[in-house]
Amino acid sequence: MKKKVNHRQRLLLLIISGLLVWLSLTEADLFHSARMEVIALDRNTDLQTLRLSFPLDPLLDDGQKIYFLVEKKYLEVIKQAGYSFSLETSRFLTPSEPGWRQWLRPQGGINGAYHSYQELASELKTLATAYAGLARLYVIGRSLENRNIYALKISDQPGLAEDEPGVALIGCHHAREWISVEVPLLIGKHLLENYSRNSQVKSLVDAAEIWIVPLVNPDGLEYSVLNYRLWRKNRRLNLDGSYGVDLNRNYAYGWAYDDLGSSPEPASAVFRGTAPFSEPETASIRNLFQTHRIAAAISYHSYSQLILYPWGYVDQPTEDELLLEQLAEDMAALIYQVNGRVYQAGRAASLLYVTNGDFTDWAYSFYRIPAFTIELPPVDLLQGGFWNAEEDIQPIFQENLPATLYLINWAISSYDGTRGTRVRPDRFFDRGLAKEAESIVKGRLGAAFKGKESR
Ligand SMILES: [Zn+2]
Repeated sequence: MKKKVNHRQRLLLLIISGLLVWLSLTEADLFHSARMEVIALDRNTDLQTLRLSFPLDPLLDDGQKIYFLVEKKYLEVIKQAGYSFSLETSRFLTPSEPGWRQWLRPQGGINGAYHSYQELASELKTLATAYAGLARLYVIGRSLENRNIYALKISDQPGLAEDEPGVALIGCHHAREWISVEVPLLIGKHLLENYSRNSQVKSLVDAAEIWIVPLVNPDGLEYSVLNYRLWRKNRRLNLDGSYGVDLNRNYAYGWAYDDLGSSPEPASAVFRGTAPFSEPETASIRNLFQTHRIAAAISYHSYSQLILYPWGYVDQPTEDELLLEQLAEDMAALIYQVNGRVYQAGRAASLLYVTNGDFTDWAYSFYRIPAFTIELPPVDLLQGGFWNAEEDIQPIFQENLPATLYLINWAISSYDGTRGTRVRPDRFFDRGLAKEAESIVKGRLGAAFKGKESR
């Protein structure tokens, strides 16, 4: 009898403690934003050391001060480490800037005119059905939470793998960069809607295979829409209980090269993951590249108004610096012509900050193709930061359209159809070779990372 009671008590205790854990997890999730603060530091502060020591998420550089998003629990230790900062959270909770006010006027649900995962999925399906002769919808992978990663292929014979250059237009590695979903989606829509009435569009679609992948990080986007607008990473539950891997630090080239361009700390906003391509979301992009002849790529991000090309992991030129620079400058000029907005063109590591394991370094190094990161408007946080207004979607798409068409045209004109090789022999495209190179680099970096850990 006594034994039975004990058993029942233990069971009850288990249920209660389970319930408590569940409650605290749910609460932690729901009130994630309440655990975050915005701090500003003088720009003369040794920020490299600071960012090495604490997981800080850069928000804004206003010239004199640098703003970061940081978890509350780090405030005291940052202070103890001798850094002086001001608390700026209230400024960002009170939407006084135009961009913020717009954000509070949602029209199509909580995220307004911006697409959620479901809204995007149904729009892509509608397009693929309405333009069945020009588009086909593929699922190139699934996210950690089992959402589809869609790729809309646009070409004159979408069901066939033709000997044509592929161009990949990729959006939303980072959850809070909502505008980066809209731009590739609208470019794809433009190609489909104008094929029959615009000869330039027709010739590009006929001669290329355009892959629209508007949402690499569906789990993160959902979290950003429903729970915490400033979420950046995917939704990996890390070993230390924190969430998320920075998908744009999880690619194979230069992965874990140093702790400035990415972080080994799971709680960091730029956590690189436990291995290159440890995340299914980045693996889906690798799959797309390994199985198709991608000849050029743009990865859309926000914000800053920049066109960046490799390298990102070191501030050194690639062997193709001149070509990449020329293409980036040409695209910036085309963008400027539309709305008069300046996008600065340059090498990623010198213009922004060093990043390792990002998409463009990988795409360039393994496939030897021009790969760009375009940081969309606004230019800084004071103009709205990650909060673009709904009215900004159309002009940002329109100004990016000619630049993207220009890159597709370049891919077509520099492509040599025979055997899928490029005009220049050093741009040789070979899937086997790329795969081999990838595993070599993976092994090498794996060893280097282990060494670093033991020291
Ligand atoms: Zn980004």
